[in-house]
Amino acid sequence: MTIFRVRVLDTPTSPFAGGTLRSDDDCGLLVGDGVITARGPFDVVRAEHPDEPVLDLRQGLLLPGLVDTHVHFPQVRVIGGLGLPLLDWLDRYALPEEMRLADVDHARGVARDFVAGLVDAGTTTALVFGAHQAPAVDVMFEAADHWGLRVTTGLVTSDRLLPDALLTTPERAYAESRELAARWHGKGRLRYAVTPRFSLSASEGVLEACAATFSEVPGSLFTSHLNENLHEISEVAALFGGASYVDTYDRFGLVTPRSVLAHDVHPTDAELGTLAARGAAVAHCPTSNAALGSGLFPLRRHIEAGVRVSLGSDVGAGTGFSLFKEGLQAYFVQQLLGPDGMLLTSAHLLWLSTGAGADALGLGDDVGDLSVGKQFDAVWVLPEPGDPLAVGLDNASSPDDALSKVFALGTTSDVGGVWVAGEQIAAGRWRSPRPR
Ligand SMILES: [Zn+2]
Repeated sequence: MTIFRVRVLDTPTSPFAGGTLRSDDDCGLLVGDGVITARGPFDVVRAEHPDEPVLDLRQGLLLPGLVDTHVHFPQVRVIGGLGLPLLDWLDRYALPEEMRLADVDHARGVARDFVAGLVDAGTTTALVFGAHQAPAVDVMFEAADHWGLRVTTGLVTSDRLLPDALLTTPERAYAESRELAARWHGKGRLRYAVTPRFSLSASEGVLEACAATFSEVPGSLFTSHLNENLHEISEVAALFGGASYVDTYDRFGLVTPRSVLAHDVHPTDAELGTLAARGAAVAHCPTSNAALGSGLFPLRRHIEAGVRVSLGSDVGAGTGFSLFKEGLQAYFVQQLLGPDGMLLTSAHLLWLSTGAGADALGLGDDVGDLSVGKQFDAVWVLPEPGDPLAVGLDNASSPDDALSKVFALGTTSDVGGVWVAGEQIAAGRWRSPRPR
């Protein structure tokens, strides 16, 4: 067992439901077998456990491990392709790179770069949009398993309107998905996600195959894209006889409490009602929405409709792995919406980056905050002395103010350590070589 001595900030209850930031300046967290077994003022925890070693992290502050609920493994190398709307961006940047993952050695390199991106950003749990090629998905699972990350991912399936090399058939999609799920679902911290790319590129046959896998693999998740771009939405409606975008999934039983749909920038009220009634979650991806010009996410309408919302980086349309940046961009978007927006506090941003994601992925009992009984998944924010974030933290007027500075100024370079289930998996790049 180890006692972590550190300033802890977390949000055990959603600020959208009345929760506030919990801040403990000199906190003791007793961790054994990866689980937090005691929490309190350091002096108290120390007195109760005088023989346990102490890890003193008081130079920085500790947050729960970050949770990214929408991030594309094959797109890590195309981050930064600016200047195009969604469908043109896919043709120009994403799809050519995704075709290269047919080469499993290439896929292995991409998986290495991708997992390094997550870890360096302090992301310990992720719902990962996989690849169209089953061997590449195997490689992704292997990489996540190697690092011990909590990753849910799966085979991306499509049978129309994409380059031929990325297409499959309903039969093959079903067979390969079941094989992958049999190999990886429930192994360590890994789970399977049923993943049609979007209903634009998935016929009824593929969606039926998805529904079969989803119902036959207990505990699997469903993920796809939803209402991202107005042109995309009109194309989907044309393919499905005028159906709403949500209905193209819902008619196959794919909208459930274990479903996470990315974007939803342009929902109708009826669609929000369906998402809420089914208990599905929406992954809000603010830098992607801005980079592709998709629109300003109507967070207030989601919250008021009772739809769960979490945060996603949407790498590679999103502009990086850092959920600090996504949180800040989410704040910007709500400011730009004026009276239709929501004023987000730093506690909201932390909740969206941690507890909301854990809840969306069905992991709320395990991770998302640093309470007794939770897994010790944590990120240590430790800016280099003298840099603007360090100066800001030294001069913060309150814990909420300190946390605002983390979201305003924090980058992956400010991550001084990352733990999953009590095991340190990264040490921070300016302090020591990364254990790689
Ligand atoms: Zn996406």
